[in-house]
Amino acid sequence: MKRDVCPLCGGKKIKSKTTYSVDFKTGVIVIRNVPCMVCVRCGEEWISPDIAKELELIVQDAKMKKMQTEILSFPDVAILGTR
Ligand SMILES: [Zn+2]
Repeated sequence: MKRDVCPLCGGKKIKSKTTYSVDFKTGVIVIRNVPCMVCVRCGEEWISPDIAKELELIVQDAKMKKMQTEILSFPDVAILGTR
């Protein structure tokens, strides 16, 4: 298992938080405090499949509600997603 090594530069990956934003023509959604892994050498970020799935649901929800600008914090929206 080489999960902690960056495939781009071989640097070490550490747990971090990032801001995820999506521009979907009718609006923009910004989700803060998204857990991710970040390479200490090149700064590349990776979001786990579970988190990515959660983000996808949040974006779908925002699109359905025709939100124009939405700024969310990940732990809050994660709780909403489980309802
Ligand atoms: Zn790297």
